[in-house]
Amino acid sequence: MTLTYDPQNIFARILRGEIPNKTVKETAHTLAFHDIRPLAPVHILVIPKGAYVTFGDFAAKASAEEIADFHRTCAAIIAEAGLDAGYRVISNAHDHGGQEVPHYHLHILGGAALGPMLAR
Ligand code: 5GP
Repeated sequence: MTLTYDPQNIFARILRGEIPNKTVKETAHTLAFHDIRPLAPVHILVIPKGAYVTFGDFAAKASAEEIADFHRTCAAIIAEAGLDAGYRVISNAHDHGGQEVPHYHLHILGGAALGPMLAR
């Protein structure tokens, strides 16, 4: 397992403006945008602007200000997306977690019944 941050990962390139995105919300420390391959009617990715690889990396190393900004932004998105009937928040990490992009992100999913948490 490596926690070396790859500055060429696709979300780093989105943060640098090299690749377009459909922005949902942006703050000083956080960017949220629509997933390019949505798995639910609402599928929003929320990423910190800092260089963190996984949930664990972010939780261990980010400042209190970054962590608060990130989670408050998630809460605002959930409220504004009208997910009163429910939603799911997922963060994949490393190989066993099936992480595709090695820049920490949360998936906010909703807009329909999402079924079981994991396929059996
Ligand atoms: P992971 O498997 O790393 O948790 O999820 C990465 C997510 O990023 C996937 O759901 C994938 O559809 C999304 N994704 C990959 N490349 C792009 C891109 O260029 N733009 C956007 N908006 N989403 C992307």
